[in-house]
Amino acid sequence: MHAKQYQRVKLAATFTKSVLVWAAVVVFVALGGNEILADAVEARVASDYLAAASYVLVVWLALSALTFPLEFFVDFHLERRYGLSEQTFGRWFLDETKSVAIAVALFAPLAALWFHLLRTIDIYWFLPFGGVHFLFTVVLAQLAPTLLLPLFYDLSPLEDEGLRERLRRLAERHGLRVESISTIGMSKRTKKANAAFAGLGATKRLLVGDTLLEICDDDEIEAAAAHEIGHYKNGHIVKLLVIGGAAQFALFLALALLYDLAATRLGYAPTDLAAIPLFLVVAAPLFALLKPAMNALSRRFEYEADRFAARALRNSSALVSALKKISDRNLGDPSPHPFVEWYFYSHPSITKRARRVAKEAKWAS
Ligand SMILES: [Zn+2]
Repeated sequence: MHAKQYQRVKLAATFTKSVLVWAAVVVFVALGGNEILADAVEARVASDYLAAASYVLVVWLALSALTFPLEFFVDFHLERRYGLSEQTFGRWFLDETKSVAIAVALFAPLAALWFHLLRTIDIYWFLPFGGVHFLFTVVLAQLAPTLLLPLFYDLSPLEDEGLRERLRRLAERHGLRVESISTIGMSKRTKKANAAFAGLGATKRLLVGDTLLEICDDDEIEAAAAHEIGHYKNGHIVKLLVIGGAAQFALFLALALLYDLAATRLGYAPTDLAAIPLFLVVAAPLFALLKPAMNALSRRFEYEADRFAARALRNSSALVSALKKISDRNLGDPSPHPFVEWYFYSHPSITKRARRVAKEAKWAS
């Protein structure tokens, strides 16, 4: 019941946050705030590009301030209240600040590029922008574990030599070279448990949460690692990049058309600063449509990776007990409402995963 309540409150707050952002932008435009801000920025900043960047930054900061109480509630208060974190407010706030700084540094150049393309090739901005965005995603996926992760977590080589050898042999049996096997010090921030392979090529870094080592025995950790190898062996990483990339391309095309339509309907040129908030207004519903489709794909991949792990180790009980322990520790809802699961869940609930693994084990024997 504890887990159900936690997931419900978290979901409601996260959903409210998205709707609030969208509604705030709509009200901002309806009351003419977008024009007042555009005049204020243009009066102070001479360069067009700097003006556009400043406009985006001001809107972003204002929205962050507006949603800060909800962010605090979901990410700090709830996690502590349900015993998932013992982080102090100071540490949490420092991490939040780091995340915002990284996001600004990464997305400011993308926003500037968007504005430049909009000015030079008008509605066709989505073509080069889609390509650059795709490359950006690929490079980020490759670099994030080495560049971004250490900014938030301590990484150290996995100490247990026996387990390290076991995981290395498992990976090599399935054609993966393992460059390093590290423990991530997740426990400083959360009690939630996780493991992951990082890297897009055949050379991988295996990351095991210290929180996972705490709750799982060696068999279960091997099963969790086999699940991650399953993602790689089934080509999920590449498939997600390609399908996700194609979906995003379609999304950008729809965005280009809708943004142009919305701006001209309201009497703006698309390159007017005052029109920029309309981008958010039309983008949010499109992302909301894409979300369940990407989640459905992700859930399918989770089942495939589970099946791979159960077969690779010929030990479905270690896999099921690992999945159960992780779900319990992370306060996963074992039986979410079907609509909630369909729309919001990137991973199937533990009940469904365990049932599926058990069914396949029966067929295999
Ligand atoms: Zn997975």
